[in-house]
Amino acid sequence: MRQDEVQPPHEQRPTIGPRSQEAYVRAQNVMPGGVNSPVRAFRSVGLTPFFVERAEGACIWDIDGREYIDYVCSWGPLIVGHAHPQVIEAICAVARKGTSFGAPTTLETTMAELICARFPSIEVVRLVNSGTEATMSAIRLARGVTKRQKIVKCIGSYHGHADGLLIRAGSGVATLGLPDSPGVLADVAQHTIVVPYNDTQAMDDVFAAHGSDIAAVMVEPIAGNMGVIPPLPGYLAHVRQKTSETNALLIFDEVMTGFRVGRHGAQGLYGIVPDLTCLGKIIGGGLPVGAYGGKAVWMRHVAPDGPIYQAGTLSGNPLAMIAGITTLQLLGEPGVYEQLEQRSAQLAAGLLDNAKACGIPLTINRVGSMICPFYTEGPVTDYASAQKSDAARFTRIFSRLLQEGISVPPSPYEGMFLSLAHTPEHIARTIHAHRLALQAES
Ligand code: PLP
Repeated sequence: MRQDEVQPPHEQRPTIGPRSQEAYVRAQNVMPGGVNSPVRAFRSVGLTPFFVERAEGACIWDIDGREYIDYVCSWGPLIVGHAHPQVIEAICAVARKGTSFGAPTTLETTMAELICARFPSIEVVRLVNSGTEATMSAIRLARGVTKRQKIVKCIGSYHGHADGLLIRAGSGVATLGLPDSPGVLADVAQHTIVVPYNDTQAMDDVFAAHGSDIAAVMVEPIAGNMGVIPPLPGYLAHVRQKTSETNALLIFDEVMTGFRVGRHGAQGLYGIVPDLTCLGKIIGGGLPVGAYGGKAVWMRHVAPDGPIYQAGTLSGNPLAMIAGITTLQLLGEPGVYEQLEQRSAQLAAGLLDNAKACGIPLTINRVGSMICPFYTEGPVTDYASAQKSDAARFTRIFSRLLQEGISVPPSPYEGMFLSLAHTPEHIARTIHAHRLALQAES
């Protein structure tokens, strides 16, 4: 953006700037939906996306020169904020020595040690390139060691896009209202059993019917892909008990919650010990990464210690490792989770005050710095109740927030994330913009 260009007042300008619109036309010619991950296309909010020029701290700038306070945070990884100077410096220093070797580095061991130290349920861990790879590999391992076929997942949970996990999935699949994906073979899908989240009876019924053939239950211990939905008291303990009784593995998908809701993830928060844990997002500090790990008795079945095969050309990539290690070190400083909790509580309270003042039904689900506003009376405890959120209202509010320079996830089924770079002033500005959006509704 040139200095001499005059910007029209917010309310008079198009929601998405002309340069981003132009960039989107170009991108659509050569990429499905013009994007490399569906929700980025803004289809569910009836817009085209803004294209990013740069980001720093809590803010992001598009190629039209517009600034946004960012609550997407790259869908979770950027808990210390965009382009944190220590993270960037560490990446640059490592990059100068080479970007990938296809041979071990001590950075990988440091990362694995950090993960094992913070997650007592993880004794041995394998580093991969994405959350999808982590969950897919954990399922293979669970099937391999139990010699059973079926897996259980929750309706509206998203565990990445591996075939067997794309059944009644949340996140982009729910956002776009897609049926289970064509291309997933019925032969594969038949081995995935789905249950409503937070429903202990449904879990009991599934175990009564299929117990001896269930290899694993995979669960997001805090559901984060149907909005944010915390587990009801006792739910995770019940699933733990059920899986233990039947010798099925309990896999916690902590790709989103790991290091987000606390240093020891959701499992630390709720005091549940899973057999396997999947991680991603934050442990890559904004670079591509994933991990799956657990008790040695299971993990030693992974090749080359055991026969269950899984590999990766770029796995344990040094840039991803150092970005993740530096991020985890920053998260090790005293008071960081307390700060996230305080600021997130401030934001949630402000949004609720706005709704009250404007007479608009609003339920906020929040665990630490994962926050989701549902425009409904609530409570929201599963995918069915999440769907009661007023999607048309969400879309209008999304656009108005964007106009005011606030970027939230473009979907009622995705939570907002705060970072350590979000200041009380950012939050106050966000609450103000939300108030304007709600006033326009009432
Ligand atoms: N599991 C959960 C809980 C997720 O939220 C996601 C992505 O959002 C994944 C798995 C897949 O991770 P990735 O997008 O890195 O493949």
